[in-house]
Amino acid sequence: MPAAQARSTPTLPAAQLERRFELPDEDATLAFGQRFAQALDSLRAKSEASQSIHNERFTGLQVQLIGDLGAGKTTLVRATLRALGHEGRVRSPTYTLVEPYSLDTKSGPLDVYHFDLYRFADPAEWADAGFREYFDRGAVCLVEWPQQAGGLLGVPDLEFALEIEGEGRVLIARAFSDTGKTCLERC
Ligand code: ADP
Ligand code: MG
Repeated sequence: MPAAQARSTPTLPAAQLERRFELPDEDATLAFGQRFAQALDSLRAKSEASQSIHNERFTGLQVQLIGDLGAGKTTLVRATLRALGHEGRVRSPTYTLVEPYSLDTKSGPLDVYHFDLYRFADPAEWADAGFREYFDRGAVCLVEWPQQAGGLLGVPDLEFALEIEGEGRVLIARAFSDTGKTCLERC
Protein backbone atom coordinates (compact mmCIF):
# COMPACT_ATOMS: atom_id res chain seq x y z
CA MET A 1 0.00 0.00 0.00
CA PRO A 2 1.44 3.41 -0.89
CA ALA A 3 2.42 5.61 2.03
CA ALA A 4 -0.37 7.97 2.99
CA GLN A 5 0.44 11.50 2.01
CA ALA A 6 -2.04 14.22 2.80
CA ARG A 7 0.48 17.02 2.64
CA SER A 8 1.95 18.71 -0.38
CA THR A 9 4.42 16.66 -2.37
CA PRO A 10 7.86 17.83 -1.18
CA THR A 11 9.19 18.30 -4.71
CA LEU A 12 6.57 20.90 -5.62
CA PRO A 13 7.58 24.57 -5.71
CA ALA A 14 6.00 27.17 -3.43
CA ALA A 15 2.32 27.63 -4.19
CA GLN A 16 1.07 30.86 -5.82
CA LEU A 17 -2.08 30.59 -3.76
CA GLU A 18 -3.20 28.35 -0.93
CA ARG A 19 -6.76 28.13 0.39
CA ARG A 20 -8.29 25.99 3.10
CA PHE A 21 -11.87 24.72 2.91
CA GLU A 22 -13.75 23.06 5.77
CA LEU A 23 -15.92 20.24 4.42
CA PRO A 24 -17.96 19.06 7.41
CA ASP A 25 -19.98 16.48 5.47
CA GLU A 26 -20.27 14.84 2.07
CA ASP A 27 -22.64 17.56 0.83
CA ALA A 28 -19.90 20.11 1.44
CA THR A 29 -17.51 18.06 -0.73
CA LEU A 30 -20.16 17.86 -3.46
CA ALA A 31 -20.73 21.62 -3.23
CA PHE A 32 -17.00 22.28 -3.55
CA GLY A 33 -16.89 20.05 -6.65
CA GLN A 34 -19.69 22.12 -8.15
CA ARG A 35 -17.93 25.40 -7.42
CA PHE A 36 -14.73 24.02 -8.92
CA ALA A 37 -16.59 22.93 -12.09
CA GLN A 38 -18.19 26.36 -12.40
CA ALA A 39 -14.82 28.05 -11.91
CA LEU A 40 -13.38 25.86 -14.65
CA ASP A 41 -16.25 26.62 -16.99
CA SER A 42 -16.06 30.38 -16.46
CA LEU A 43 -12.30 30.29 -16.94
CA ARG A 44 -12.67 28.48 -20.26
CA ALA A 45 -15.46 30.78 -21.41
CA LYS A 46 -13.31 33.80 -20.63
CA SER A 47 -10.31 32.29 -22.37
CA GLU A 48 -12.38 31.68 -25.52
CA ALA A 49 -13.73 35.24 -25.49
CA SER A 50 -10.39 36.96 -24.93
CA GLN A 51 -8.11 34.76 -26.99
CA SER A 52 -8.08 36.95 -30.07
CA ILE A 53 -7.03 39.96 -28.02
CA HIS A 54 -4.65 38.58 -25.40
CA ASN A 55 -3.83 35.23 -26.86
CA GLU A 56 -4.82 33.67 -23.53
CA ARG A 57 -6.00 30.19 -24.29
CA PHE A 58 -7.13 27.45 -22.00
CA THR A 59 -4.45 24.82 -22.58
CA GLY A 60 -5.69 22.27 -20.09
CA LEU A 61 -5.49 21.76 -16.37
CA GLN A 62 -3.81 19.15 -14.22
CA VAL A 63 -5.18 18.60 -10.73
CA GLN A 64 -3.47 16.25 -8.31
CA LEU A 65 -5.68 14.86 -5.55
CA ILE A 66 -3.90 13.60 -2.48
CA GLY A 67 -5.14 12.06 0.75
CA ASP A 68 -5.69 8.67 2.39
CA LEU A 69 -8.14 6.05 1.18
CA GLY A 70 -11.60 7.32 2.01
CA ALA A 71 -10.51 10.97 2.21
CA GLY A 72 -12.98 11.91 -0.53
CA LYS A 73 -10.88 12.21 -3.71
CA THR A 74 -13.28 10.19 -5.87
CA THR A 75 -16.30 11.92 -4.31
CA LEU A 76 -14.84 15.27 -5.35
CA VAL A 77 -14.10 14.06 -8.89
CA ARG A 78 -17.63 12.64 -9.18
CA ALA A 79 -19.18 15.97 -8.12
CA THR A 80 -16.98 17.85 -10.59
CA LEU A 81 -17.91 15.55 -13.49
CA ARG A 82 -21.63 15.78 -12.67
CA ALA A 83 -21.48 19.57 -12.51
CA LEU A 84 -19.68 19.60 -15.87
CA GLY A 85 -22.64 17.73 -17.38
CA HIS A 86 -21.74 14.04 -17.05
CA GLU A 87 -24.93 12.09 -16.42
CA GLY A 88 -23.82 8.46 -16.23
CA ARG A 89 -21.86 6.57 -13.64
CA VAL A 90 -18.45 7.62 -12.43
CA ARG A 91 -16.34 4.50 -11.96
CA SER A 92 -13.24 4.54 -9.86
CA PRO A 93 -10.45 3.74 -12.37
CA THR A 94 -8.61 1.63 -9.82
CA TYR A 95 -7.78 -1.15 -12.29
CA THR A 96 -7.94 0.70 -15.61
CA LEU A 97 -5.84 3.58 -14.18
CA VAL A 98 -7.74 6.12 -16.30
CA GLU A 99 -11.36 6.75 -17.26
CA PRO A 100 -12.01 9.22 -20.11
CA TYR A 101 -15.02 11.56 -20.36
CA SER A 102 -16.08 13.66 -23.35
CA LEU A 103 -18.34 16.36 -21.98
CA ASP A 104 -20.50 19.06 -23.44
CA THR A 105 -20.02 21.87 -20.99
CA LYS A 106 -21.44 25.39 -21.00
CA SER A 107 -18.10 26.60 -22.33
CA GLY A 108 -17.98 23.96 -25.09
CA PRO A 109 -16.69 20.41 -25.54
CA LEU A 110 -14.21 19.29 -22.91
CA ASP A 111 -12.20 16.11 -22.38
CA VAL A 112 -11.72 15.10 -18.78
CA TYR A 113 -9.44 12.23 -17.74
CA HIS A 114 -9.88 10.75 -14.29
CA PHE A 115 -6.76 8.88 -13.19
CA ASP A 116 -6.36 6.65 -10.15
CA LEU A 117 -2.72 5.63 -9.96
CA TYR A 118 -3.03 3.64 -6.72
CA ARG A 119 -1.95 0.48 -8.56
CA PHE A 120 0.48 2.16 -10.93
CA ALA A 121 3.89 0.63 -10.43
CA ASP A 122 5.86 0.64 -13.67
CA PRO A 123 7.03 3.97 -15.13
CA ALA A 124 7.56 2.26 -18.52
CA GLU A 125 3.82 1.76 -18.59
CA TRP A 126 3.42 5.54 -18.63
CA ALA A 127 4.78 5.85 -22.14
CA ASP A 128 3.39 2.51 -23.33
CA ALA A 129 -0.14 3.43 -22.30
CA GLY A 130 0.20 6.84 -23.96
CA PHE A 131 -0.59 8.65 -20.72
CA ARG A 132 1.70 11.56 -21.50
CA GLU A 133 -0.50 12.67 -24.39
CA TYR A 134 -3.51 12.91 -22.11
CA PHE A 135 -1.78 15.86 -20.47
CA ASP A 136 -1.05 17.65 -23.74
CA ARG A 137 -4.48 17.95 -25.28
CA GLY A 138 -6.11 20.87 -23.55
CA ALA A 139 -7.91 18.37 -21.33
CA VAL A 140 -8.64 18.48 -17.63
CA CYS A 141 -6.73 15.70 -15.86
CA LEU A 142 -7.85 14.80 -12.35
CA VAL A 143 -5.26 12.51 -10.78
CA GLU A 144 -5.70 10.43 -7.62
CA TRP A 145 -2.51 8.98 -6.07
CA PRO A 146 -0.14 11.18 -8.16
CA GLN A 147 2.71 10.17 -5.81
CA GLN A 148 2.71 6.76 -7.52
CA ALA A 149 3.88 8.34 -10.79
CA GLY A 150 6.95 9.95 -9.20
CA GLY A 151 8.15 12.85 -11.32
CA LEU A 152 6.31 11.76 -14.48
CA LEU A 153 3.44 14.16 -13.90
CA GLY A 154 5.45 17.33 -13.42
CA VAL A 155 4.08 20.30 -11.51
CA PRO A 156 0.27 20.40 -11.47
CA ASP A 157 -1.85 23.52 -11.92
CA LEU A 158 -3.65 22.62 -8.72
CA GLU A 159 -3.19 20.29 -5.81
CA PHE A 160 -6.17 19.31 -3.66
CA ALA A 161 -5.07 17.70 -0.40
CA LEU A 162 -7.91 16.13 1.57
CA GLU A 163 -7.55 15.23 5.23
CA ILE A 164 -9.98 13.41 7.46
CA GLU A 165 -10.85 15.59 10.45
CA GLY A 166 -13.36 14.15 12.89
CA GLU A 167 -16.50 13.23 10.96
CA GLY A 168 -15.66 15.61 8.12
CA ARG A 169 -12.80 16.62 5.84
CA VAL A 170 -10.47 19.56 5.36
CA LEU A 171 -9.32 20.50 1.88
CA ILE A 172 -6.08 22.39 1.39
CA ALA A 173 -5.99 23.64 -2.18
CA ARG A 174 -2.80 24.96 -3.72
CA ALA A 175 -2.23 26.61 -7.08
CA PHE A 176 1.06 26.34 -8.98
CA SER A 177 0.18 28.15 -12.21
CA ASP A 178 -1.70 31.28 -13.31
CA THR A 179 -4.55 29.13 -14.62
CA GLY A 180 -4.68 27.17 -11.36
CA LYS A 181 -4.61 30.38 -9.35
CA THR A 182 -7.45 32.01 -11.30
CA CYS A 183 -9.47 28.84 -10.94
CA LEU A 184 -8.87 28.57 -7.19
CA GLU A 185 -9.72 32.23 -6.64
CA ARG A 186 -13.18 31.45 -8.04
CA CYS A 187 -13.83 28.44 -5.80
P1 ADP B 1 -11.03 8.30 -1.88
O1 ADP B 1 -11.24 8.39 -3.36
O2 ADP B 1 -10.22 9.44 -1.33
O3 ADP B 1 -10.47 6.98 -1.45
P2 ADP B 1 -13.93 8.22 -1.70
O4 ADP B 1 -14.42 9.48 -2.30
O5 ADP B 1 -14.02 6.98 -2.49
O6 ADP B 1 -12.44 8.46 -1.16
O7 ADP B 1 -14.70 7.96 -0.34
C1 ADP B 1 -14.87 8.98 0.58
C2 ADP B 1 -15.91 8.58 1.59
O8 ADP B 1 -16.05 9.65 2.51
C3 ADP B 1 -17.27 8.35 0.98
O9 ADP B 1 -17.92 7.35 1.73
C4 ADP B 1 -17.98 9.69 1.14
O10 ADP B 1 -19.35 9.54 1.33
C5 ADP B 1 -17.33 10.24 2.39
N1 ADP B 1 -17.14 11.70 2.35
C6 ADP B 1 -16.76 12.47 1.30
N2 ADP B 1 -16.63 13.75 1.67
C7 ADP B 1 -16.91 13.80 2.99
C8 ADP B 1 -16.91 14.87 3.95
N3 ADP B 1 -16.62 16.12 3.60
N4 ADP B 1 -17.24 14.56 5.20
C9 ADP B 1 -17.52 13.28 5.54
N5 ADP B 1 -17.53 12.25 4.69
C10 ADP B 1 -17.23 12.50 3.43
MG1 MG C 1 -10.60 7.13 -4.93
